[in-house]
Amino acid sequence: MLMPLIAAFVVGAVVGSFLNVCIWRVPAGESVVYPPSHCPGCGMHIRSADNIPLLSYLLLRGRCRACGVRISPRYPAVEALTGIMFAVLLWEFGPSVVLGVYAGFVAALIVITFIDLDHQIIPDAISLPGIAVGLVCAALGYGPPLLDSAIGVGLGGGTLYAIAVGYHALTGREGMGGGDIKLLAMIGAFLGWRGVLVTLVLGSFTGAVVGITLILARGADARLPIPFGPFLALGAVCALLFGDPLIHWYLHFALPA
Ligand SMILES: [Zn+2]
Repeated sequence: MLMPLIAAFVVGAVVGSFLNVCIWRVPAGESVVYPPSHCPGCGMHIRSADNIPLLSYLLLRGRCRACGVRISPRYPAVEALTGIMFAVLLWEFGPSVVLGVYAGFVAALIVITFIDLDHQIIPDAISLPGIAVGLVCAALGYGPPLLDSAIGVGLGGGTLYAIAVGYHALTGREGMGGGDIKLLAMIGAFLGWRGVLVTLVLGSFTGAVVGITLILARGADARLPIPFGPFLALGAVCALLFGDPLIHWYLHFALPA
């Protein structure tokens, strides 16, 4: 089983290299296929030999070969993260069509996470097609049952929409972005309505913990927006990998008899 897992990691690292391009270019509305990668410092085209995921960063010690400008460690981090996730997904789902579906889903979540961290937006260009793809996969039998998937879209989008409307009515301020609403709808399409609930609980909990820690640590303004997308993405990955055991645990041990 070790060789397939290593192969999945390598495929994931290569995909992660492409995700870096998406994270950089999708918010700018640029093409993700053309032009080829270039150094952010000197604009020099990066040779294929210097564009090997993870290895090139190590060999060049995180610098551009031409101008020596520092390359952000986030590039190899995204490649390593995608590689690890692909290996974990292979371990969980085995070689199957469903593995491909969830690899694509997790790749989209990774791109959304880093774009939201950088720009506090979640591009419709990813979440809206994501909803459609999730529903189609469910209809083809690769995911939750279609009705479950459709209810997931409605529940995911509807819950956050209701929270956004309620928050605005109470405070007169925008708290929740429309991007979060469409992201949770996309998560519902791939994971069904139970997955939405697990994602929402885990995402809210981790988001609150990190938010409170940030406010205590750096005295951040409580009204400073903290992007919610990364926490929803983290919750969705946990729901995908551990959703059923978590629900089982909750129903049997956490609820009073
Ligand atoms: Zn350069």
